[in-house]
Amino acid sequence: MMLTAQDWLAKIHMLPLKRRVRIMNVCGGHERSITMAGIRNALPKTVELIAGPGCPVCICPEEDVYQAIQLALHADVILVAFGDMLRVPVNMSKREVRSLEQAKANGADIRPVASPREAVKIAQENPLRSVVFFAAGFETTTAPVAAMLLEGVPDNLFVLLSGRRTWPAVAMLLDSDTPAFDGLIAPGHVSTVMGPEEWLFVVEKHSIPAAVSGFMPVSLLAAMYSVLRQLLEGKPFLDNCYPELVRPGGNPSAKAQIAQALNDADANWRGIGVIPASGFVLSPRFGSHDARIRFPDFDLAGRKRAGQMPHGCECASVVLGKINPNQCKIYGRSCTPKSPIGPCMVSDEGACRIWWAGGVRNNATVSTEDAQTFVVE
Ligand code: SF4
Repeated sequence: MMLTAQDWLAKIHMLPLKRRVRIMNVCGGHERSITMAGIRNALPKTVELIAGPGCPVCICPEEDVYQAIQLALHADVILVAFGDMLRVPVNMSKREVRSLEQAKANGADIRPVASPREAVKIAQENPLRSVVFFAAGFETTTAPVAAMLLEGVPDNLFVLLSGRRTWPAVAMLLDSDTPAFDGLIAPGHVSTVMGPEEWLFVVEKHSIPAAVSGFMPVSLLAAMYSVLRQLLEGKPFLDNCYPELVRPGGNPSAKAQIAQALNDADANWRGIGVIPASGFVLSPRFGSHDARIRFPDFDLAGRKRAGQMPHGCECASVVLGKINPNQCKIYGRSCTPKSPIGPCMVSDEGACRIWWAGGVRNNATVSTEDAQTFVVE
C-alpha cells in the first residue's frame, strides 16, 4: 500500500528523536515544496529543515552578471538569458545600470528565454547579429546547453556559461569545521541527470544519512523519515525515495553530452568563493562559440565591490544554510521581492523569495522572541 504524506508525517512523529536534527536540502524546488506545504511547521520541534545551496541564480558570480549587462549595453548583441537572471542586481551605484532589466529599459536588446532551443531560434532569426546566451544554472540546466552545442548552433550564437555542479558545494560544507547538517535530502532533478551515486560521498566519507527525494510532499517526507531513521539506527546509507525518475547511473546520454561539450573547472560562487571542480566551461572544441573568448572582458579593474555581495546582504550565509532567510538583517525591510537587494530574493529558487512567497514576514533579528516564531500569514 502506498503511504500518503500524512502517513509519513505520522511515522516521523513516532520516531524517538531525543536531540535536535538538522536536515539540509540543496534544491530550490525542494525548498519551495517544503515551504508551501508547511512541512517545516508540521514536523517535530527537534527536526530543523535547512535550505542549502539550491539556487543557481543566487550563486552566479556578480562579475558574470556584470559582464552580461555590459555586453548587452556595449557589444551590439542580442543578449538572451533565463528570466530569473534579469532582476539580479550587481554592485553599481544607483545612478548606473545595475541589472539586465535596467539595461533593457536603457535600450539594450535583452530577451528572456526558457530553453536553449529558444536561444538557437533567436540566433537563426537574426543571422546578421551576434546573440549571446547567458546560461547560468546547475547540472539540469547545463546538460541541455551541452546538447545544444553538440547538435550544432548558428555561427552567430555565443554562450556565456555560468554552469555549476551541486555536489562540490555540499562537499565543501562537509569538509568545513562545522558541517551545517546531520542528514541530506539529495536533489531529485540533479540525480535524474547525474545519477544518485554522486551523493554517495556524503554517506561513505562523512557517515551522514542521505536520501534522494522528488518534489511532492509525500516524497520529501519519505526522504526525511529515511534520513531520521538512518540516524537513529546509526546505519547511514543512500536511499532513493524518487525511484520513479532517479535510476542508477542517471541519464547516460545527458552525462555523455556534458563530457563531450564541456570541461570541469574551479569556479567562483557568489559570496562564497572558488570551489574546486565545481564549474563547467566550454571545451576548446566549442571555443568559437564561447562568449568569454569572442568578446572582451568588460569588468573594470578597481570596480568597487566587484564580486561581492551588496552591503548588508547575507545571501552567502543563506545559501550555505548558516542562517535562515529571515535571519538576514534586511529581510523584509529594505530587501523584498519588489525591491530585492540580494539574488536570493530575486530568483524563484532563492530561499528568501520562497520564504517571502510562503508568507514569512517577520525578521528574526528583530527580537529573540521573534527569532523563535515563524509568522505565516
Ligand atoms: S534578505 Fe535579501 S539581502 Fe538578505 S540574504 Fe535574502 S536576498 Fe540577500
